Amino acid sequence: MSKYIFITGGVISSLGKGIASASIGKILESRGLKVALMKLDPYINVDPGTMNPYQHGEVYVTEDGAETDLDLGHYERFTNTLSSKFNNITTGQIYNSVISRERKGDYLGKTIQVIPHITDAIKERIKKCAEVSKADIVIVEIGGTVGDIESLPFLEASRQFRLDMGAENVFYIHLTLVPYIKAAGEVKTKPTQHSVGTLREIGIIPDVLICRTEKSLTDNVKEKISLFCNVRKEAVIESPDMDSIYQVPLVFKKQILDEIILSHFKLICKFSDLKDWERAVVNRALNPKHKVTIAVIGKYIELQDAYKSIYEALNHAGIYNDARVEIKRIDSESLEKDKIEQMLKGVSGILVPGGFGYRGIEGKIKAIKFSRLNKIPFLGICLGMQCAVIEFARNVCNLKTANSTEFKPTKYPVISLLQEQAKLKDLGGTMRLGAYLCKIRKNSLAGQVYGKSLVYERHRHRYEFNNKFKKLFEKNGMVLSGVCPRKDLIEIVELKAHPYFIAVQFHPEFKSKPDKAHPLFSGFIQAALQFQALGK
Ligand code: GLN
Repeated sequence: MSKYIFITGGVISSLGKGIASASIGKILESRGLKVALMKLDPYINVDPGTMNPYQHGEVYVTEDGAETDLDLGHYERFTNTLSSKFNNITTGQIYNSVISRERKGDYLGKTIQVIPHITDAIKERIKKCAEVSKADIVIVEIGGTVGDIESLPFLEASRQFRLDMGAENVFYIHLTLVPYIKAAGEVKTKPTQHSVGTLREIGIIPDVLICRTEKSLTDNVKEKISLFCNVRKEAVIESPDMDSIYQVPLVFKKQILDEIILSHFKLICKFSDLKDWERAVVNRALNPKHKVTIAVIGKYIELQDAYKSIYEALNHAGIYNDARVEIKRIDSESLEKDKIEQMLKGVSGILVPGGFGYRGIEGKIKAIKFSRLNKIPFLGICLGMQCAVIEFARNVCNLKTANSTEFKPTKYPVISLLQEQAKLKDLGGTMRLGAYLCKIRKNSLAGQVYGKSLVYERHRHRYEFNNKFKKLFEKNGMVLSGVCPRKDLIEIVELKAHPYFIAVQFHPEFKSKPDKAHPLFSGFIQAALQFQALGK
């Protein structure tokens, strides 16, 4: 039978609950346990796929094509787990399923209520994830902050879990903030006390408190938190800000958080000191030999979370190449007006990520032209590939008004909708989603960086390269180096007369890990380092 850890957050949002959950997954996995990680999101959307990145940040796509919360990205990067549609639940999904069962008559004669019907549906979904993953330990992160109205059903379901499964099988961790007040010169525990008080009102008594803090907690402060919050002193774990998020598992390990959890569950596991992780990831991330600057030309650039996996994948490629990757975030709209040479000064690589809608497109195209002409390493992702195709059509093939039909009606629809997409009416969950096989052409740059000819990569888009233009593009020097064989769709394009110009219709960033950088990203950073060394 699986054991369950519920992770809640208190005081404020953005404390890094996802990273804490992923780090707990890491330290338990390193002890030889099979873990699964889940995120429960309190919003009413069925999934984040229909939300603007400004609202939600990145939408993380799983292998099976679920559009999910970006915390699932942390789970996959920190651990060896593979998430699926079973790992992310939203209030919208829960109500959807309960209401459709009610319409079918499954609850005939009854009044449908939050308790027990909604909470039962939540518990079923958590147990389903345990069943599908066959995990020893299921780590369930509850979105939002304790005290929010909308997360109450999830908290209530997690309270019931201990009653249903037995106290020895369920563990509660609360992540909280212990702020440092400069004027008083001390850290304050009151917000934590209140937050734990609110949890206790709901019936949840945390077994561990993880305290996010700028200053290290003294013994006295830990004792105070322990006393007022009714948590053993050794279970008050401090989590200071770190230079690299990949240090967090080591911080928890040092405070024997894994032992505290295992002893509650009465599990005896193999020893692990996480030295491999420390050597291969942390030490390399903290002490790189080189430094290189990469421009990310995005349209949601102000928001740190909008390109989370891309930034992480760049970091991983830095770790691989022994380099610190400085990311220069450039708003593509501003690039339309400003002098590109100035804005891209000192940049050794240009990455154009995914996105939707016409806003900012011309700036992206301008940056791509700049990288093509100046032979600056370029990596285009999804919309980034579509823009590279438009740029090539306009400026090399001389199709001056070429465009994607997503943006404008055009005589030269080099990017267009497939028939199967054009017929669709619903917008939620209907894009080309999840992993598809891609066949890579021999003797291509893609073949060289991947070192193999068949790969699976994850997708999230509606529009595709228009095969009518294949011949013209090839004639003009674009290499169509990756194809989805089942649908004959172009997945990778590259340029011959360029050291590293490659653009992909899929999202390689979702499969990059700190100790296993994605080849397209590690090749990109390697090329950027070479470009930098040439002193251009
Ligand atoms: N808007 C484009 C499409 O739907 C690209 C999507 C993306 O970059 N994820 O095809």
